[in-house]
Amino acid sequence: MAIKTPSEPSSEEARCAEMIAQIEAEARSTADYTGRSRFDSRVLAAIKRVPRHEFVPASEKDMAYLNIALPIGHGQTISQPYIVALMTDLLALEPDAVVLEIGTGSGYQAAVLAQMVRQVYSVEIIPAIAAKAKARFTRLGITNIEVRVGDGYYGWPEHAPFDGIVVTAAAPQIPPLLVEQLKPGGRLVIPLGRPLDRQDLTVAEKSEDNQLSLRSVLPVAFVPFQQGRSIEPVEHEEENSW
Ligand code: SAH
Repeated sequence: MAIKTPSEPSSEEARCAEMIAQIEAEARSTADYTGRSRFDSRVLAAIKRVPRHEFVPASEKDMAYLNIALPIGHGQTISQPYIVALMTDLLALEPDAVVLEIGTGSGYQAAVLAQMVRQVYSVEIIPAIAAKAKARFTRLGITNIEVRVGDGYYGWPEHAPFDGIVVTAAAPQIPPLLVEQLKPGGRLVIPLGRPLDRQDLTVAEKSEDNQLSLRSVLPVAFVPFQQGRSIEPVEHEEENSW
């Protein structure tokens, strides 16, 4: 589904075009690691359709189209656009795919996926972050993302199996229930490693006979996957609200 864009090219559109050029340049310079010197054109088209400035706090709006991660409050971040593009590309999704994301955060990765697939399910452990992402999807008219507050360690069994699963927080190992909820032939993309230590963006592919093969793609730096954290109640709006 597409997000409405005004007919006059806005400065956001120009900045987004520049950001996409930077993503393409970084794809070329990391090709030795990733094996991909160019991303699928559908991935770049999806990035182009999602207004990243709508996904960052007011204080970060000027930086929304820089190819960098930005703070979104609660100690969390919106991922670097190149990494969002890479993870989306690595999932190799078909248009009728159903995808699970763990770590909704700002909702940006989910919104990019939602341009390319039938349905996105996204689990977020911090209720206030989930609430903001939901409100943002409603405001932008994105209807094919469902968000749930919970610990993504357990996946979302009611909607399994998934064609692809993307985890946007770094975990020491792949949560086994996510592997169970992946379709044979499907891919799971996850940063593996401990916080503040080396993490490797990893693609796990499940074969038709349910064997899992892992490939490390690129060293990355993600916020930690919080396992067993008790779900905190929704707080009042913070000063740095979006
Ligand atoms: N995909 C996001 C990036 C989010 S940062 C974006 O595009 O903006 C990682 C997010 O994962 C944070 O919001 C964090 O609260 C969430 N998270 C960490 N551990 C989690 C868990 N066990 N289950 C669900 N969400 C988790």
